[in-house]
Amino acid sequence: MAGLYIHIPFCKRKCVYCDFYSVAFSPVMMERYVSLLLKEFDRRKGEVANEKFRTIYFGGGTPSLLPVNLLSKLICHVGQDDAEEITIEVNPDDVTEEFAREIVVAGINRVSMGIQSFDDKELKFLNRRHDSSVAKKAVGILKSSGICNISIDLIYGIPGQTLATWRKSLEDAIALGVPHISAYNLTYEEGTKLTVMRDEGKIEEASDDLCVEMFDVLAAMLSDAGYEHYEISNFALPGMHSRHNSSYWNFTPYIGLGASAHSFDGRVRRYNPSDLRRYMELVEKNGMACDEEHETVGQLYNEWVMTRLRTSHGLDLNDLLARFGRDRLEMASEVLDGYKEKGFVTVANGVACLTRKGIMVSDMIFRDLFVV
Ligand code: SF4
Repeated sequence: MAGLYIHIPFCKRKCVYCDFYSVAFSPVMMERYVSLLLKEFDRRKGEVANEKFRTIYFGGGTPSLLPVNLLSKLICHVGQDDAEEITIEVNPDDVTEEFAREIVVAGINRVSMGIQSFDDKELKFLNRRHDSSVAKKAVGILKSSGICNISIDLIYGIPGQTLATWRKSLEDAIALGVPHISAYNLTYEEGTKLTVMRDEGKIEEASDDLCVEMFDVLAAMLSDAGYEHYEISNFALPGMHSRHNSSYWNFTPYIGLGASAHSFDGRVRRYNPSDLRRYMELVEKNGMACDEEHETVGQLYNEWVMTRLRTSHGLDLNDLLARFGRDRLEMASEVLDGYKEKGFVTVANGVACLTRKGIMVSDMIFRDLFVV
């Protein structure tokens, strides 16, 4: 079974930190875009060995801006019967009772909501459309419509955010009783308004020490509340991990449809253009729009060790030996032993895992493990 990702690139406004591909919301474009997604699907569904999709994920952009009849059309066309998990990313202020009822009928059984913070000043700074009361109300609406598999995104390291406001956001998140929380350290991506503001001296980045403290508070509070820390940025109540995202970390093949979407079949990565017009022109003409890159064994190895170490399952050294051979195993073991002595890594029963301290320096550990 494989995964299917569908990118809906429309947003009503740009959040200051966002470097995902998105364009201004255009209701008139939606119908044409969806018809091209269907065309692309028909042309490319054979890229994965068994054309059945265990998970379907609508990401963006803002998929909750897509009229539900178009969403339904997409789900029916790609075949929802075999999908265990169908997720849609939503903005809290798009969640009405009608929307929630309709997405349930369309077959959606999981919602990922970009809340980011429960502090209204922080939300305003990030240029989000919602405030904290709208976010809380949205979770209530989804639950009463029967969608209990809800994930929320939070951000820490926001300029002006304090340990106290971060704790309060976490308390609010826990109180909502959502089964899945993703929490990300704010990053300064090239070309974003956030980076421009920093470079112009208008805002100050949160210090590394504060971000480490925030991460510690996050891990401790969510663990006390019963969440499993199953991936560096992801926490779930037992059994409620994201099946779609977990399949990325397990190298399960997936097809990505739409402008800027990526695909991977276990060996070849495919990239759709991050340009809506170009995507539409190419799919109109050829049924597909992607460029291909055949991964080298070195690239596959780098991705494998990184994704495995990011998860709580860890890096199974026997598995590494079987996939990449003895030389790579010995190289990785030497690096991991060095980090084990420093308390950044544990190795038990042939499985290496990052410790909480190790997560904070994970980029350095990955760099040392990577082959060039
Ligand atoms: S809503 Fe999501 S995709 Fe759109 S600008 Fe904000 S963070 Fe980016």
